[in-house]
Amino acid sequence: MLNKLSSALKKGFNKIAGAVFVDKKTIDSVVKDLQRALIQADVNIHLVKQIGDKIKKEAANEKIKGIERKEHLTKVLHDEILSLLGTEKHELKLDKEKQTKIMLLGLYGAGKTTTTSKLAVYYAKRGFKTAILGLDVHRPAAAEQLEQLGKQSKIATFTDKKQKNALKVYEKYKKDLKDFDLVIIDTAGRHSLDKELVKEIKDISKKIKPDYTLLTIQADIGQAAKQQASEFQKACDINGVIITRMDSTAKAGGALTACNETKAPVYFIGTGEKVGDLETFNPQSFISRLLGLGDLEGLLEKVQSAVDEKSQKKIKNKLEKGDFDLRDFQEQLKQMKGMGSLSKIAEMIPGLGKAKIPENMLGTQEHKMKKWQHIIDSMTEQEIKNPEIIEKQTTRLGRIAKGSGTTTTDIRQLLKQYKLLKEMTQGTSGLSDIDPSQGLNSKQMQKLAKKFGKKMKF
Ligand code: GDP
Ligand code: MG
Repeated sequence: MLNKLSSALKKGFNKIAGAVFVDKKTIDSVVKDLQRALIQADVNIHLVKQIGDKIKKEAANEKIKGIERKEHLTKVLHDEILSLLGTEKHELKLDKEKQTKIMLLGLYGAGKTTTTSKLAVYYAKRGFKTAILGLDVHRPAAAEQLEQLGKQSKIATFTDKKQKNALKVYEKYKKDLKDFDLVIIDTAGRHSLDKELVKEIKDISKKIKPDYTLLTIQADIGQAAKQQASEFQKACDINGVIITRMDSTAKAGGALTACNETKAPVYFIGTGEKVGDLETFNPQSFISRLLGLGDLEGLLEKVQSAVDEKSQKKIKNKLEKGDFDLRDFQEQLKQMKGMGSLSKIAEMIPGLGKAKIPENMLGTQEHKMKKWQHIIDSMTEQEIKNPEIIEKQTTRLGRIAKGSGTTTTDIRQLLKQYKLLKEMTQGTSGLSDIDPSQGLNSKQMQKLAKKFGKKMKF
């Protein structure tokens, strides 16, 4: 469901959490990714622009610094997406003491019949004595479809295949229906909301007086749901919407946001063809699911546990001056545990963060990092400050290996990585002159990436 939007959102939050400095560039790039994904989900272009502008405006508050700035931006992003979907959870209010009637409306193929049985099963499971009433008298197959669905899920189903008048079908079963807490009513659709359909719905409504009249809309129509929902609101007094086929289209975002625009509450979403594939719609938890995290707090925690900005600055300065020893390297490793990626180092070097360094070359290697920590712990202060002497005196290698429970190969590998990092920064002497917002030119960048990519092996 909305896979692209989901991955764009996750990417955005990770970008914020992982950024050393949340600067304009980071914000612009997060907003750009998000906007692209929203457009792909068929969200109205004006809304997309609005949300982008708002995030940029909120994020531009320079007074907020450091981690707070990341938290702020994370919250802004989260809240803006939430406001696109609607902040409230709407629930049908059902009372077992008093019979409730829910009538489903919609165009052909919107999912009325399927959703009728889904709803019946949903409430039967929750202890309601539930019945289905089939009032789609125009399509002979409709009654058959309902009966089968009802049989499968053991729900009392009332239909009349021969009767062509919906009100007469109701009259026929009126008495039987009195025994039930809840009656779900399937109605006939049309190709469009024409006069005939409006009249039929109005006649049924007047007679049956449903407590809820819900429009079913298939998510496939995307943002066109706005027009459909508002037409039905005007003509038939609907209370809200059920969006079906959320699982089978990339446009579901458009349908959801469109309903929020018309203030037609979305009560349920259909997420598959099976009778159990119905969920209540709660914007808050829907977003949490899109983001792959429990809630906003989870996100903020992630931001807080990400690399600490102050120490990143310190390391950056050291790197630029070239006095970056193994202790700094170790500190870096410790910090990276949470984020789990050496690419953080690359990010700190102006321009390099933008170079396309193959991810697996910089990828997580928790195990190796642990080993390196042990190795550094077994070194003398002199060795830490001056790692070159270790390679010159192999007795040192042996001693450290023994002390740290590793092999000399492990130590050599660590030294290689450390040297590479140092060399990389020195090799691009004058790095500190480079404007971080400009980065390296593409030639410099390619050269670095090549060098880095080739040598950086884990
Ligand atoms: P009606 O004309 O409004 O009564 O629509 P139906 O209930 O007959 O559904 C039309 C088609 O959509 C059927 O093939 C259903 O199986 C399918 N359908 C309904 N809801 C969902 C859903 O949530 N997901 C998927 N994938 N298919 C659905
Ligand atoms: Mg039908």
